[in-house]
Amino acid sequence: MLYFDHNATTPLCPEAKQAWLEAVEQFIGNPSSPHRLGARADAALQEARGRLAGFLGCDALDIVWTSGATESNNAVFRHLAAVLGADAEVFVSAIEHPSTMVAATRWLGKRVRHVPVERSGVVSLDWLGAELPKHRAGAVALMAANNETGVLQPWREALALCRRHGAAFVCDATQWIGKLPTKGLGACDFVSGSAHKFGGPRGVGFLKCPSRVNVMPLIVGGRQEEGRRAGTENVAGVLSMMAALAARESALVAGERKARCGWKEEFEQTLLDELPGAEIVGAGAERLWNTVSALMPEADCRQRWVVKLDKAGCAVSTGSACASGEEKPSHVLAAMGFTPEEAGRALRLSSGWETTREDWARLLGSLRKVRDTMLETTKL
Ligand code: PMP
Repeated sequence: MLYFDHNATTPLCPEAKQAWLEAVEQFIGNPSSPHRLGARADAALQEARGRLAGFLGCDALDIVWTSGATESNNAVFRHLAAVLGADAEVFVSAIEHPSTMVAATRWLGKRVRHVPVERSGVVSLDWLGAELPKHRAGAVALMAANNETGVLQPWREALALCRRHGAAFVCDATQWIGKLPTKGLGACDFVSGSAHKFGGPRGVGFLKCPSRVNVMPLIVGGRQEEGRRAGTENVAGVLSMMAALAARESALVAGERKARCGWKEEFEQTLLDELPGAEIVGAGAERLWNTVSALMPEADCRQRWVVKLDKAGCAVSTGSACASGEEKPSHVLAAMGFTPEEAGRALRLSSGWETTREDWARLLGSLRKVRDTMLETTKL
């Protein structure tokens, strides 16, 4: 099976698997326990905290281990609701993941303002720059890279705007981390990340938050993580996540991204040449090297493409995994100005570090075959 759904989840990489197996044998104690086995597990967690802080460029104490980015994003808005003044507003980009969108509304209700995006899928900094001074802006949330389109967002510029206007900056970096260098993200006030998006195990992630303020916990009932997240830490999960991140960061340092970017571009060009009427979403913007969001030529047949590709041996997605299965068109494509009919033709193809140039070619071959069978059935 050709796997082109890495933005939904990735297979466990060998380094992460090895680290997990070693950790479950080596660290049997609860990190909060008073004996040496507990202390040893705690030391491993602290060491991992230091390593992640080193990648991000922040203080080790800023890191809170969580179950993944959904929890991290929920925790941010729970905290903001507790600390922001009653009249403070929160600016959330219109293309955030549902775990940000829904959590923001859940905790801040009508105090949430949505920041529009351009047709290219990039958030409108002009709009944000003009609006921030007009409101009591408590925080701005902008993801680093979009999960559906792969479009990179100007998070550094948004962070600078926040600094100028005294607002906290929240960055969901779930799709960026492990694909692009993590360095620099630590300058944001809050950063969410998730292991299973970059070759680590599912159910483990982190939240980078300011350690100098009291973070209001989302999950209560234990003193773990300096009282910022109750519950026994997933030591093996954390160590496995860090092994995956180290492997990805090494690949980035070794320049392995460039060739992969070329393979994706080659695929997009051939797709456009061979399937008249196809369109690449966010074509004009800087995008992740692994993600292709394409509007397929035929109308109202996105499920058919996915099902037929599945039968042909290719696992692809229609949008974000969390949103697919719903009838509603993607809020990301709607925010970019695509009609529901256009959004209904979107396929998301997302590769991984282990995807080869031949895999992209095979995917193209399957797309051709599916297109041909569709043409035949419409002729009948
Ligand atoms: N944010 C983004 C941008 C994502 O792509 C995802 C996963 N689809 C999440 C948050 C949620 O991550 P998790 O699966 O770790 O809860």
